Amino acid sequence: MHARVDIAIIGGGATGWMAAAYLNRFLPSLDIAVMESPDVPPLGVGESLNSVSRRFNAALGIDEAEFLRAVDGTYKIGIAFEEFADLGTGFFHPFGRPAGPVDAHPHAQDAFPATWLCRANRFDPGQGARGYHVCATRYAGFLRDLATARGVTRIAAHAERVRRSGRAIAAVEDLEADLFIDCTGFRGLLLGDALQTPFHGLDDTLPNDAAVALRVPYERIATRPFPFTRCAAQEAGWIWEIPLWSRLGAGYCYARRHLTPDDATARLKAHLGLSADDDLEPMHIRFRHGRHARAVAENCVALGGAFGFIEPLESTGLAMTQANIMSLVPGLADLGRWDRLCRERFDTTADFVFAHYRLSRRRDSAYWREIQTRAPGPRLARLLAEARHGDFERIDNDPGHFYRARNWNAVLSGMGLFDAPETDAPPLDTQDLAARAAEAPDFVTHLAETLHGPPPWPHTPPPSPVAPPAPARRRPAPAPMMDNASP
Ligand SMILES: Cc1cc2nc3c(=O)[nH]c(=O)nc-3n(C[C@H](O)[C@H](O)[C@H](O)COP(=O)(O)OP(=O)(O)OC[C@H]3O[C@@H](n4cnc5c(N)ncnc54)[C@H](O)[C@@H]3O)c2cc1C
Repeated sequence: MHARVDIAIIGGGATGWMAAAYLNRFLPSLDIAVMESPDVPPLGVGESLNSVSRRFNAALGIDEAEFLRAVDGTYKIGIAFEEFADLGTGFFHPFGRPAGPVDAHPHAQDAFPATWLCRANRFDPGQGARGYHVCATRYAGFLRDLATARGVTRIAAHAERVRRSGRAIAAVEDLEADLFIDCTGFRGLLLGDALQTPFHGLDDTLPNDAAVALRVPYERIATRPFPFTRCAAQEAGWIWEIPLWSRLGAGYCYARRHLTPDDATARLKAHLGLSADDDLEPMHIRFRHGRHARAVAENCVALGGAFGFIEPLESTGLAMTQANIMSLVPGLADLGRWDRLCRERFDTTADFVFAHYRLSRRRDSAYWREIQTRAPGPRLARLLAEARHGDFERIDNDPGHFYRARNWNAVLSGMGLFDAPETDAPPLDTQDLAARAAEAPDFVTHLAETLHGPPPWPHTPPPSPVAPPAPARRRPAPAPMMDNASP
């Protein structure tokens, strides 16, 4: 069927429907259609959302409680990194602002209220900087229902034919438009295939190229929801745990040079306490790191996986895509500038993720030893040199930095960059933060009382209030979140 719209979005995963919902809301006079293939399923991962998502949802007028109920969601106020710096270590990358100065402080994480809440497995409803753990399938569906209810047209068709008019795209199948948005994920149908925009890989830095994912009902494991995403480094990659309300999303992100898919699956099951012959269906995914040379070519812009991909260690995929979508509305007036912003955000975020590997002191497997041969590029090398001296000015003044100085401080300090003996760091006053966290509601109890009702799995709330946890001296590894025990 022949049709003409102002904006045609090709691809209907989370990216396609996020773009459709947002552009429809802020460009209400434009006709928008989404073409999604009935033959190619969306990725089905992407369940950990950073705090950008809260702003994105608020801009769309989404009610937070309704949203979380619809997507089996929980709150996320940080990310735990275990055994990245070295075996036996761990740290939090907390969301929100620190209570005092943290530049180049060896215990930067302790200055953030969210760190203390994560340690105590508690949640402060007043913590504005929060993201979410969501079911990826339900999330894409939620956005699709929202966008179509507000007037976006949905076309179920597999796109193959791309018709050109000069260098520009005139139509995809029979759908004509002024602007095409490529949201076809790793397939990259328009920006990559049709417009032949070169791809720059990141294989010389980021080590992983595959993942295996499982959806695990809580009934099968001892883990219960906690307010952060857990990333535990392994011999050939790392395992994520994303606590939704009724199940855990878990996966092993690994390097195929060092581990087979079967071994990754076995290791993941063992990590979760599942038996090797458990019948849960593993989902195997291969990916390539990198981005296209540009996010804009002719009358086409690319978002999400169709533009580029960085492995999910900091859950950057959807958050960066949301930021790029929000910038696109004003950016339509100057797509060259928007393109530059997207590229810079991507590149500085790739640096941020690589820092978690490059600064590691682990040498206990071929994987970790190989990482030491991967040198940081000039941009990251300079940033690390400046950071060592507490100079974060460049980061906070540059809109191309997706992560702010406080994020870099938390991670670089957790990785031990500021541990040098000459560091003359003033002690942090953490007693108040610890005491306040201890008085906040237990995470599961709060979710049950305000959102989901009684949990469908056994839960024993801790005594309330618990004693304040002792201030951490060195970066302790966050304890495994078994049966809601406070670490
Ligand atoms: C292992 C892994 C874990 C991840 N974890 C996280 C995380 O925790 N947090 C996070 O923020 N991000 C995460 N990501 C990234 C996140 O999954 C992606 O950013 C997200 O899935 C969005 O992808 P997408 O919509 O761009 O592509 P996809 O989900 O692949 O969707 C592509 C869409 O395009 C359609 N399509 C493809 N070809 C055609 C065609 N020819 N015609 C019509 N339609 C077509 C498909 O039907 C589909 O609807 C993760 C990624 C991986 C690989």
